Amino acid sequence: MYEMWAEQDPAVTPPTVVWHVVAKDDASTSLCGRFLEPAQRVVPATDGSEPAPPDRYCDPCLVTVREAMTAAAR
Ligand SMILES: [Zn+2]
Repeated sequence: MYEMWAEQDPAVTPPTVVWHVVAKDDASTSLCGRFLEPAQRVVPATDGSEPAPPDRYCDPCLVTVREAMTAAAR
């Protein structure tokens, strides 16, 4: 099983939330090998009180998920 993990990407301006994918059995790093700090986690507001920031998805994470799903379907 996989979980989504949102983090601010400090490398881009304006700061953008990037969604990584984390395997549930190893939540210390994302699928792209990024070390995940719980303090860095972004929990987007879901009550509509703030405008949703532009989100990006981490390409290496998505590629890994796609390959894993393709392998599981065989
Ligand atoms: Zn990633």
